[in-house]
Amino acid sequence: MSVQDRAPAHVKAIAPYQPGKPISDLARELGLDESGIVKLASNENPLGVNEAALAAMTRALAEVTRYPDGNGFEVKAAISQRFGVDPGQVVLGNGSNDVLELAARALLVPGSSAVYAQHAFAVYPLVTQATGARGIEVPARDFGHDLDAMLAAIEADTRIVFLANPNNPTGTFIDGASLARFIAAVPAEVLVVLDEAYTDYLPRALRYDSIAWLAQHPNLMVSRTLAKAYGLAGLRVGFGLASPAVIDLLNRVRQPFNVNSVAQAGAVAVLNDPAFLERSFEVNLAGMQQLTEGFRALGFDYIPSCANFVSFRVGPAAEVFDRLLRQGVIVRPIAGYGMPEYLRVSIGTRDENQRFLDALRTVTAGLPGVLRGNAR
Ligand SMILES: *Cc1c(COP(=O)(O)O)cnc(C)c1O
Repeated sequence: MSVQDRAPAHVKAIAPYQPGKPISDLARELGLDESGIVKLASNENPLGVNEAALAAMTRALAEVTRYPDGNGFEVKAAISQRFGVDPGQVVLGNGSNDVLELAARALLVPGSSAVYAQHAFAVYPLVTQATGARGIEVPARDFGHDLDAMLAAIEADTRIVFLANPNNPTGTFIDGASLARFIAAVPAEVLVVLDEAYTDYLPRALRYDSIAWLAQHPNLMVSRTLAKAYGLAGLRVGFGLASPAVIDLLNRVRQPFNVNSVAQAGAVAVLNDPAFLERSFEVNLAGMQQLTEGFRALGFDYIPSCANFVSFRVGPAAEVFDRLLRQGVIVRPIAGYGMPEYLRVSIGTRDENQRFLDALRTVTAGLPGVLRGNAR
């Protein structure tokens, strides 16, 4: 008998999360300089660090002998101001992954279940399985969430429905009206976790106000992150917005100091810099056009995306991924999401996007099995 023998079966059954390959790893493997590597694997923001956040974090470093404010007063005040919610409707997380996990830990037990879609964000099954609850994976429709099927999949023991809009890794989007109807139809005792990590990338015409729905739906939680459009992925700050009763529940299972003091300082600064968000949006829009035009020129099918990445169909994805690595370009294989013929590429700067497209052209030229779905 060993320690690991005694771990619960539901823990041993968890397939570990596979993060994007770090630049430093590839630089070591190829004997290359890190500056020669383009990483478009983790949906990170290509704009560089927000200046105001950097200054605030530098100041905050002098105070790291103290514990952070466990209540995150200033961050909640900034969120409260920006999004028009009461601070009591905010829970802070060490990244929004933490918030997703708080929801799972607060509600799920063995014998209960959570509903999520096929090809949805990998963290939903992970946090569900860690509790011993059952995950109910609902088949996707055109790679997106099938809301009718998800509603029908809710069982008597279902306590959470996880939903990403736009979704990762597919980039698919559900319009606000359909989403509102779905939330209204979910039983009041089931928490809807609406993960809006990419909401700031939505074209203006597609935007909707999920935060306004919180007033009618005490079983709704909207989660947001500073990792994507705000450009602070390494800082690990996310937040959930919900009814005070749900927030109270999540705070009970939250580590008291889950968001560190430097991160809190950076978060306040970037939340007060809407111009940065606007630039993120604009750069992403241009990059999306550049990449999708590139895919069309190369003949690769892609899933139309509303986020800061695109998944495209190449056929032998593992081989193309490896070949791109050898060109110093890191993208993301998504076989683990049930999409073995696809790769996901994050939108970078104009130069990074071009390097990726050039490398893709080079490594797929003459490669057997490559699928060009819509060659012109
Ligand atoms: C990137 C991402 C997040 C953000 O996670 P953090 O923990 O805040 O970095 C959340 N949800 C989805 C669907 C994502 O793709």
